[in-house]
Amino acid sequence: MQNIASNLETLEHRIAVACKAAGRARDSVTLIAVSKTKPAADVHAAAALGLTQFGENYLDEALVKIQTSADLDLTWHYIGRIQSNKTKDIAASFDWVHTVDREKVARRLNEQCPATKQLQVLIQVNIDADPAKGGVMREAVPTLLREIQQLPRLVLRGLMTILAADSDPGASYQSMAQLFADLEPQLDPSARAHWDTLSMGMTGDLEQAISNGATHIRIGTALFGTRG
Ligand SMILES: *Cc1c(COP(=O)(O)O)cnc(C)c1O
Repeated sequence: MQNIASNLETLEHRIAVACKAAGRARDSVTLIAVSKTKPAADVHAAAALGLTQFGENYLDEALVKIQTSADLDLTWHYIGRIQSNKTKDIAASFDWVHTVDREKVARRLNEQCPATKQLQVLIQVNIDADPAKGGVMREAVPTLLREIQQLPRLVLRGLMTILAADSDPGASYQSMAQLFADLEPQLDPSARAHWDTLSMGMTGDLEQAISNGATHIRIGTALFGTRG
């Protein structure tokens, strides 16, 4: 197993430096530990170090980890592609869904969300217009946003993006921040109060994400080591 404790120390230093450079408070950035492909033992080790937010891409392996850490009071973020026949399990087991990119998925998550909770959701934006990536094109975001804010069991919190391999992170994250700001006045007043989340930044580009206003960074490799 990787030394998660020392990885976290190094990572926290990077985050602190980036926050300082951006004139931001450390607590304005939430670290999501992306544990995909890693064993439940790694989740437990990271939780023992104080991490509470975890991200997963693949439903089947996620469900095992969520079940085996049910006593830990962790918050789970779904960050993978959504097949519409998997929305029921996603709605039942996760607290957040970062990758909502079409109306059908939003409607199904809303219908299948257990009565005991609401789902915190983000619209995934394909900011680089990369055919290989999921997410809605920038121009289509306002329409999807209007649809989602009508759905009572979903709380629309903001935007998420995954960059193209050849992206310029500084420019793309700046575009995301601009879009996030431009959309706020288009929200219903009741939805505006919850519009507070910009999920962007991974191991390779967390500094650019933080300098452009990311509120949630999703970190796998820097914490758990390379994936096999
Ligand atoms: C794997 C993954 C991450 C973490 O990537 P690292 O480069 O390992 O930090 C973040 N977000 C999404 C959507 C991912 O699939």
